[in-house]
Amino acid sequence: MAEKLICPKCSSDNIQKCSVIYQSGTVDHSYTSRSGDNTVETSGTESTALAQSVAPPAKHDEPYGALLGCLGIAGLFYLWNWTIVSIIFVLAALGQAISIKEAMDYNSNQWPRDYKAWQHSWFCHRCGHYFIID
Ligand SMILES: [Zn+2]
Repeated sequence: MAEKLICPKCSSDNIQKCSVIYQSGTVDHSYTSRSGDNTVETSGTESTALAQSVAPPAKHDEPYGALLGCLGIAGLFYLWNWTIVSIIFVLAALGQAISIKEAMDYNSNQWPRDYKAWQHSWFCHRCGHYFIID
């Protein structure tokens, strides 16, 4: 018979996998409201406070749009002979490139480990302790 899973802090068996709490506490919704001849549709995702507290780790944004925007503006100022301003935007683009590199490093190295740990993480409904069971 399988070993019974309990909270390592308070020994309660009232524990649940974080991924299950997250899925059961998160709902997609859409509302339609009418005012006179106008119809407004809104949709989105709502989650309970508990589900939010056990949300999976998010990947970091890779700001390619900001990088291209900075390079485009730098190019325009260069064409207009505003070289100093152009250099400022090239430096801003370099900053964006560094952000992209850091985000890519996190997303390909650390995020898979964080996500795997999240898949094995549990929550105790008695004492509120988070823990990992492999
Ligand atoms: Zn506990």
